[in-house]
Amino acid sequence: MSQRKKSRGHLTAASSPGASVLAAQPLHGVDERPPGADGGVWGRRRVLLLNSTYEPLAALPARRAVVMLLCGKADVVHADPGGPVIHSATRAIAVPSVIRLRSFVRVPYRARVPMTRAALMHRDRFRCAYCGSKADTVDHVVPRSRGGAHSWENCVAACAGCNHRKADRLLSELGWTLRATPLPPKGQHWRLLSSIKELDPAWVRYLGEGAA
Ligand SMILES: [Zn+2]
Repeated sequence: MSQRKKSRGHLTAASSPGASVLAAQPLHGVDERPPGADGGVWGRRRVLLLNSTYEPLAALPARRAVVMLLCGKADVVHADPGGPVIHSATRAIAVPSVIRLRSFVRVPYRARVPMTRAALMHRDRFRCAYCGSKADTVDHVVPRSRGGAHSWENCVAACAGCNHRKADRLLSELGWTLRATPLPPKGQHWRLLSSIKELDPAWVRYLGEGAA
């Protein structure tokens, strides 16, 4: 049985083969330069890690993804032909976009998904909560100046026009309604969406409903 514990936002620990896959590991046999020393290939590049069941688990640094491939703990699901190639002493490894664990790891239920602008926009599908047109701002339904919280329940994607017209008023004062009740999203892929700045287009199909 695979088992995994979580602490302080990191997937760690384990007592099974495939268990330490998410823990930091030394990189044997691969030229390990300091982060940022080679134009950001190690530093910024992220690889989507899927469970054996294809559930998205984490956005790994390229180095850890390559280690998992070298150790035989994961396989490439989605290669990136235009991506960087990492050279070890004996071989060249193309950094893929998406990899998948060979062994299933159990991921415990996690509490609230942190709210970020990117995740909020994905939740609302980049549509204004008031008029449905393309949204590019975040609006507090109950304005912060009137005690509204910065929370999933009180924040919505909004177009600039609606946001400007609404200003610091309440919906009841405007006679406006929300197209949907804002709620915190649930699911592992939302945690990923809230933690990454740029979404690799190759990941979208693995991130589930709401990611596109
Ligand atoms: Zn609008």
